[in-house]
Amino acid sequence: MTSLDKNHWFTEVSDRDGSAFSLRINKLLEQQQSPFQHVAMYETTDFGNLMVIDGCTMVSSRENFFYHEMIAHPALFSHPNPKNVVIIGGGDCGTLREVLKHDSVETVTQIDIDQVVTEMSLKYFPELCSANDDPRATLLFDDGIKYMRDAQAESIDVIIVDGTDPVGPGEGLFNHAFYQSCLAALRPGGVLVQQSESPLMHMPLLLEMRAAIKQVGFGALQTLPFPQPIYPSGLWSVTLARKGLGFDGFRACDPDALNTLYYTPGVHQGALAEPPFMTKAFNQQ
Ligand code: SAM
Repeated sequence: MTSLDKNHWFTEVSDRDGSAFSLRINKLLEQQQSPFQHVAMYETTDFGNLMVIDGCTMVSSRENFFYHEMIAHPALFSHPNPKNVVIIGGGDCGTLREVLKHDSVETVTQIDIDQVVTEMSLKYFPELCSANDDPRATLLFDDGIKYMRDAQAESIDVIIVDGTDPVGPGEGLFNHAFYQSCLAALRPGGVLVQQSESPLMHMPLLLEMRAAIKQVGFGALQTLPFPQPIYPSGLWSVTLARKGLGFDGFRACDPDALNTLYYTPGVHQGALAEPPFMTKAFNQQ
């Protein structure tokens, strides 16, 4: 559900959570009904530009760094030498930009189902698209589920699932069949990372997702919480899984060289200190 009231507040009403979140809008910049979803871009008074997909806030200029840095860097630094990376979804290109900061990376293939998301991002979030022309990057517009099903076995080091909520085209990114395809496509020791919704609001979904990832044969899991101011509850998470192995720490980096706004090795270490409300839920699985 979407609304813009007479005082120009955009409100995302999250029926499933019994909550709502509002941002004050200067103007609607553009909206398009793509074959897959409704994509709108607003100019806000305080959060810069805001992308909304099917009534759900996706990305704003002001706060997207939390999400993009936490979906990219913990996974890449948990792999000893990531060379070939695949991003499923990620059409705003912010995750791609973070991945391309890693010198070890030789190729990144991004597969978003919806070209409209990337076209609007190029127009309204040029800073997120600043690495799109990097020769290591390939941008494809196709179904990520199909792409993973057809991927060559043991050809990828890190798979990043930067998709929408598990409704509409993003639904099939959260099931056994998809995780099986990811496992087959990863090299031994490869890392899968997926945005895993809010640990506060969506614990049943997070538990289901973790169970499915384990059942297909991944080793140990890590669920890292982080702030996400424009998503329901303001607390979000990514879940990492490794093929054939547990996690044995992560490579440290120089955060100044990485030019991040949230991620540092210390923040990574802190996010691994699982809060008790999460540990209790995971232990009951
Ligand atoms: N990165 C955003 C943020 O900062 O909050 C949120 C993710 S947004 C880029 C999610 C993307 O997943 C959308 O562009 C959508 O088109 C894409 N997507 C959804 N289902 C997909 C599928 N089956 N295959 C590929 N892309 C998909």
